[in-house]
Amino acid sequence: MAYIQFLGAAGTVTGSKHLVNTSSDTSGNHSRQVLIDCGLFQGQKEWRDRNWQDLPVAVQNIDAVILTHAHIDHCGWIPRLVKAGFRGPIFATPPTIDLCGILLPDSGHLQEEDAAFYNKIKKSKHDPALPLYTFEEAQDSLQYFRAAQFDQWITVSPEFSFRFVRAAHILGSAMVEVNLRTKGQSRRLLFGGDTGRVRNHSVAPGKVVHSGPVEGEAADVLVMESTYGNREHPTDDPRPQLAAIVRRTVERGGSVVVPAFAVERTQKFLFMLKALMEVGQMPRIPVYADSPMAIRAVETFLKYTGEYTEEARQLIREYGSPLEWPGFIFASTPQESKKINQSHYPSIIVSSSGMVTGGRILHHLAQRMPDPRNTVLFIGFQAPGTRGFAIKSGTPEVKIFGEMVTVRAEVASLEQFSDHADTPELLEWLRTFKKKPAATYLVHGEPAASVRLRETMMEELGWNVQIAQWMQKVQVR
Ligand SMILES: [Zn+2]
Repeated sequence: MAYIQFLGAAGTVTGSKHLVNTSSDTSGNHSRQVLIDCGLFQGQKEWRDRNWQDLPVAVQNIDAVILTHAHIDHCGWIPRLVKAGFRGPIFATPPTIDLCGILLPDSGHLQEEDAAFYNKIKKSKHDPALPLYTFEEAQDSLQYFRAAQFDQWITVSPEFSFRFVRAAHILGSAMVEVNLRTKGQSRRLLFGGDTGRVRNHSVAPGKVVHSGPVEGEAADVLVMESTYGNREHPTDDPRPQLAAIVRRTVERGGSVVVPAFAVERTQKFLFMLKALMEVGQMPRIPVYADSPMAIRAVETFLKYTGEYTEEARQLIREYGSPLEWPGFIFASTPQESKKINQSHYPSIIVSSSGMVTGGRILHHLAQRMPDPRNTVLFIGFQAPGTRGFAIKSGTPEVKIFGEMVTVRAEVASLEQFSDHADTPELLEWLRTFKKKPAATYLVHGEPAASVRLRETMMEELGWNVQIAQWMQKVQVR
């Protein structure tokens, strides 16, 4: 009656793009086509190269895009899609639209910087190296966004309607329930996007957004992530460990450099630092939030306090806006960012990108990693092939700006901050389904994680589970 084609995040954790075609035959003729997510590939070159390939369908024939959330691996290819001629609506929740308004132009800016760098060192195959899209092109793509509230049904065509339900992953994140009606038959599809922490706050201590992904689903076809399909998060409180990492770094006379996603992850981390300093568990050293979007990110974070857990709201009530805190410095301009490099006193530097794929964090790491007094602290997922993954895995040196940088700094990580449900949490959520989906497709995972999750789901739930392959078309029955 219809089919789904996996155009990204199949066999890897980035580049999420799933095309729903309402045609009953895989030729795709005489049909509606809707793209769920439109993410950038990151990490290994083999995957990043796919950012430059055209989609297997003419973009003019895509009727709409539905966006689950504002992480770049789910939304970062939108400017390229628009550049290629897409002119339809891009549906997203209001917080996701706000976040994309900050993140996509920044992504365009990073693409331009990359191209300029490769032209300078003349190491690109392409002469001259071009950005995937520019700041301006990213700005231009924002005009196609259309707000859709949670639980509001939207009709894209007589065959295709959908609504957003809560995913509890990051601010504004949603799952997409799709109702397909063709030839008198109807089917419910559920695209999970990224699934947030399921259990209560004491078991998921990094959790900030709401109470969990919506329960009691009843889908015929489920497409879900498998990022943590072979892992469990620690459930202990990360604050004593964080305080200890900062204390011992300061005792050495060093600084802590934290790669973090600029919106939400950075702000909740800042609140945790503030609270630890206020109760005297952490020395009051300067904290730099270094991002071109630093101030807007805080403003956006504070605009949606209703989205957060009670504990997060309590912190916001108690401490107010981070922009007002003494000792917390927001570096928006390149000049302010450079000033941080001149500081030789212990400090905490929080900067993006979270997986060290680009952005200002590169300057800080290039400067601070050769010094064993410093610490690099990871508080987010690192996709294989990224610099963040290499550093976290203990590489002795890593390439930044074309030069090898020696890693002598301490490397630490706190897994409790994860915004993804781990395997026990995913199972807990899946057990709330009202019926077994006829088919479940696993996306957004490294192969080992997807394989393990498939086995676990088949054993524990008895579900029919497949691992999605890149470019594969699967029939909706
Ligand atoms: Zn995500």
